[in-house]
Amino acid sequence: MRHVRLPPFNAVVFRGDDGGRLAERWEPLLARIERAVFEAEFGIVGEFGRRCNTVLLPPGGGQQTLELIRRYGLLFYPITQVRAYQGYAHTHEKPRHPGEAALFGVACIEIDDALRFAEAYQRGDHYTQGKLLGYPECCIKAFIEDWNAGYYSPVIQEVRRTPGCHDYECRIDPLLNPTLRYIGVKAIPFWPHNLVCREAHRWAEHFIDVVRRIDKKAYKALLELLAEPVEFSQVNGIIEVRVGSPPWMLIISQGYSDETIRVRLIPMYDPVEEYG
Ligand SMILES: [Zn+2]
Repeated sequence: MRHVRLPPFNAVVFRGDDGGRLAERWEPLLARIERAVFEAEFGIVGEFGRRCNTVLLPPGGGQQTLELIRRYGLLFYPITQVRAYQGYAHTHEKPRHPGEAALFGVACIEIDDALRFAEAYQRGDHYTQGKLLGYPECCIKAFIEDWNAGYYSPVIQEVRRTPGCHDYECRIDPLLNPTLRYIGVKAIPFWPHNLVCREAHRWAEHFIDVVRRIDKKAYKALLELLAEPVEFSQVNGIIEVRVGSPPWMLIISQGYSDETIRVRLIPMYDPVEEYG
């Protein structure tokens, strides 16, 4: 595997004759899901031993994020400047000039948590960062393994660790679907170690409940999307996620390697029936 470096981007395309109508319904819903999930990442601090949430303030902005941090009774601690980006980024890069410097930091319960997080970030200690973020031990360990092997978006590694799965097809816990996160659609804010992890599932149940309390409409739309089968592919460093069968929505994002990957993820149960 060789790394491919593309600028962060993503796009959503609605397919077919119905594309216009689908876009009309889903574009505002996607924005609502993204906002509610973003807020839930602060709202769930204090559960599962989660002491902090990571924060990225855009150049000259971030007022709303700071208000959210205040509202949830957390304190913001800046760590470093990183290059601002739109869409989804796999790694942080250094800004080339002050105009593109975003401020990366953490929102934590106590200053001691923030200092520990900052120190762990500076020395590349993913384990301590994962613990302060409250992530399950099994998932943190797998993330570190994948990261060290150069897999920044370890979808295929998660498939390979899922019992009964093949590189081309996998039956998954729909709450753990990792392929919609490129546009902020997710029921957990971390990479699960496999796609049926029980610890990650427990997390997801709490997390979607926080989303429900923040925005009921976003919650219902989130479940509706997670109920869909997806086909994930990465070819020449471009990620494409085909959502639905037949696919009615495409998510296109930058990948990170020259490896060709294509896998279908099929939900084991209907999350709308289970949690709707
Ligand atoms: Zn796990």
